[in-house]
Amino acid sequence: MPKILRPLDVYKLLPQTNCGKCGESTCMAFAARVADRAVDVKLCTPLLEDPKFKGKLQSVLELVRPPVKDVTIGVPPNHVVVGNKVVMYRHELTWYNPTAIAIDVTDEMDEKALIDRAKAVEAFVFERIGQPLRLNMIALRCTSGTPEKFAKASDLISKNVSLPLMLCSYDPNIMEEALIIVGNKRPLIYAATRDNWRDMLELASKYKCPVAISAPGDLNLLKSLAATFVDAGLEDLILDPGTFVRGDSLAETLNMFTMLRRAAIEKEDKAVGFPLLAVPAAVWMEAEGSEDEKKMMESYIASILMTRFADLMVMHSLDFWALMPVLVWRQNVYTDPRVPPSVKPGVYEIGKPGEMSPVFVTGNFALTYFLVKGDIENSKIDAYLVVADSEGISVESSVAGRRLTAEKFADAIKSSGLDKKLKKKVVVLPGRAARLSGELEELLPGWKVLVGPRDSSGIPDYAEKVLKKEL
Ligand code: SF4
Repeated sequence: MPKILRPLDVYKLLPQTNCGKCGESTCMAFAARVADRAVDVKLCTPLLEDPKFKGKLQSVLELVRPPVKDVTIGVPPNHVVVGNKVVMYRHELTWYNPTAIAIDVTDEMDEKALIDRAKAVEAFVFERIGQPLRLNMIALRCTSGTPEKFAKASDLISKNVSLPLMLCSYDPNIMEEALIIVGNKRPLIYAATRDNWRDMLELASKYKCPVAISAPGDLNLLKSLAATFVDAGLEDLILDPGTFVRGDSLAETLNMFTMLRRAAIEKEDKAVGFPLLAVPAAVWMEAEGSEDEKKMMESYIASILMTRFADLMVMHSLDFWALMPVLVWRQNVYTDPRVPPSVKPGVYEIGKPGEMSPVFVTGNFALTYFLVKGDIENSKIDAYLVVADSEGISVESSVAGRRLTAEKFADAIKSSGLDKKLKKKVVVLPGRAARLSGELEELLPGWKVLVGPRDSSGIPDYAEKVLKKEL
């Protein structure tokens, strides 16, 4: 069963003074938000700072501790938080902290190529439904076997980009050379293994850095190493059970990820209650095929492992076409299933609309809004876009379910005040709401109601061939 918090249980451990320092007017309101995991309990500064609440603070921290701990890599504001998972499946509550994606570089790259690639990772962004989708980290692999090269490469990256670092070497001496330079930026140490764990534990303690524990294919060893680190007081751990990508071994990988997550959440096994690391980049070492086939394989393996249950991934390809599906999938998986992605109903201006501009109407499902907006922009016409409240659902579904009606469209247009601004009143209804056109015309005397294309990608063509003749 997912660990569900009750507001009253949190409230009992708060100071109960209603001082408002947390941003809520009452302690009960704050407790409800903590229970919903919408805010961090540490925002209650009296609880955090007043020694008389020390006991309550410890109790509430224990109460809110998620079955999969959160781990911060990097130093704010240049940091990423992974983990903090409370449920197995996103529909049970929601998944927090989207899977962080690190792109690999090596210490054998020449200086310019290394800096260019690191900068390209940092600059990579595209916008979807109003949100920027980005990459999160750089994974520096030591392929030279030389401490000086590894240290120099870590220095170069940290001086040129602000993304958090993952330092990859099994050799503690090589690792420490880099930590001397960038240890104060809390890079992720990768990795402690059966052979080097004592030295890596010492380094993680000394430099106060998170550390990944790697035991490919051996969950008992992984758990036992993690327990040893916890006993030593280190809890900023990431678990790497191994990513095998050849043939049936991908199923074995999925199985291991699922067993670890199930043990953490359903059996509350604290020894494995840490974020999981996947390495889809293993495709480049293990799989066969052309370069494009490997990119495609890396992309779908990343999407699969993100769904089951990778919190951090190392990838190699930096091609837009290979990364875009992964980032879009991440956005979908990590969207709160309780809240449909929506935009505020109202009137939006596209370009510089005037008294002869057309009015498009649509629903407030975020994906619909951004697609329609983009397609009107592509048609190079100035227009008004009136967004009616469809309860965050697409036009076709909301019309079918009577959540978006001709009355709602008419009310949205009337309250926009556009009838006073426009000389010629032309409104374009989405093609998927065509059945509402007659009713809408009756509700909007003086307006001409047109039916637009069924798919918004047809708007540029529609604007050229139909709309211009009407204006
Ligand atoms: S800061 Fe703490 S004590 Fe003050 S209102 Fe918020 S929860 Fe209550």
